[in-house]
Amino acid sequence: MAYLTKSSFPEEMWNSYEFQIRNSITTVDGLAQWINLSDSECEAIQALKDIYKFRISPYYASLMHKTDLRCPLRLQAIPSQKESLKFEGSSVDPVGDRQNLKTARVIHKYPNRVAFLVSDICPVYCRHCTRKYHTTSRDGTYFGPEVDHSMDRDLEYIRSHTEIDDVLLTGGDPLSLGDAKLEFLISRLRSIPHINIIRIGSRFPVVLPQRITPKLLLILSTYGPIWVNTQFNHPSEITQESAAAVESLIRHGIPVQNQSVLLKGINDSLDVMRALIKQLVKIKVRPYYLYHCDNIVGVSHFRTSIGLGTEIMEGLTGFETGFSVPQYVVATRLGKIPITPIYFQCTDEGKTIIRNYKKEISDITSYMGTEQC
Ligand SMILES: *Cc1c(COP(=O)(O)O)cnc(C)c1O
Ligand code: SF4
Repeated sequence: MAYLTKSSFPEEMWNSYEFQIRNSITTVDGLAQWINLSDSECEAIQALKDIYKFRISPYYASLMHKTDLRCPLRLQAIPSQKESLKFEGSSVDPVGDRQNLKTARVIHKYPNRVAFLVSDICPVYCRHCTRKYHTTSRDGTYFGPEVDHSMDRDLEYIRSHTEIDDVLLTGGDPLSLGDAKLEFLISRLRSIPHINIIRIGSRFPVVLPQRITPKLLLILSTYGPIWVNTQFNHPSEITQESAAAVESLIRHGIPVQNQSVLLKGINDSLDVMRALIKQLVKIKVRPYYLYHCDNIVGVSHFRTSIGLGTEIMEGLTGFETGFSVPQYVVATRLGKIPITPIYFQCTDEGKTIIRNYKKEISDITSYMGTEQC
């Protein structure tokens, strides 16, 4: 059987955001037109369909390997039976988003900044989503049935809290909103004098780059400065289309940064991570965070050890361009905790010991002079 590919469609159609959305893949039959689905994948899609949402854009499906089950894109987007395993200590909200919700949508956890959950919809439901309960679970979202459509109360919270100077639009994917709603939201935020940074956390540049339309770019550049943080997890997600979407954002004055998640079998090796950050810098995307994968219900099977994460960081730090190396963090109830190998040590005897990226050790106590530990 011949599978669908990008070239099965006229270019103009393929590059249309509406076409990509209208043709979202949500069934076994839909996905089977694109790739050779294994029995286990078919079974998982069927078994999980009433538990978690399943949605893949034609664009993202076109990047999947037709036969290889270890394809990093397949693993991120196709349901697996492992999602129904119960892992010890797992939680639907290990970072305490819910306890920090001050309105229906505003999470205020850090002093100067808030996460604003403007949507619970995504163009592709990543199987490893950190807010899997909110975005992907069929049971519900953080939004109660009584949630007001207007977002007036959320905006009022931000307006009345002058300590907030940074608003992170997140979700779900904020760019799932229509342009009019998005413009309404961003213009209201920009009219608040104490707001400096507006950021959008969106996976559209990776999973449906056709969303970055001239109309959207106009909105984003009108109410700038706006920063976009996206999520490339594997070098094979960097394509002509995703690079073009990033390029147009940058040309409209919108810096693009990347927040990867460390995922077992997808990018949990030094080689993959090195290739990813090199490719990101090539398309002018700055690696920002590498998230340790949390123990989230339905996601735990993607976890690796912090030891492995630290080893990867040691292999990047000093060996690669400084600004291409992301900060490795584990998200917890207490906030994001940076995980950094130890390079600097003050001993009990008052000595100052350093080591470099090549593990060369030096006692720099005398060099430090009187300004010791
Ligand atoms: C991650 C996060 C932020 C943003 O944190 P940065 O370290 O500034 O990127 C803000 N609010 C919440 C609730 C978050 O989880
Ligand atoms: S795009 Fe983001 S919010 Fe949506 S499913 Fe993926 S990780 Fe979750």
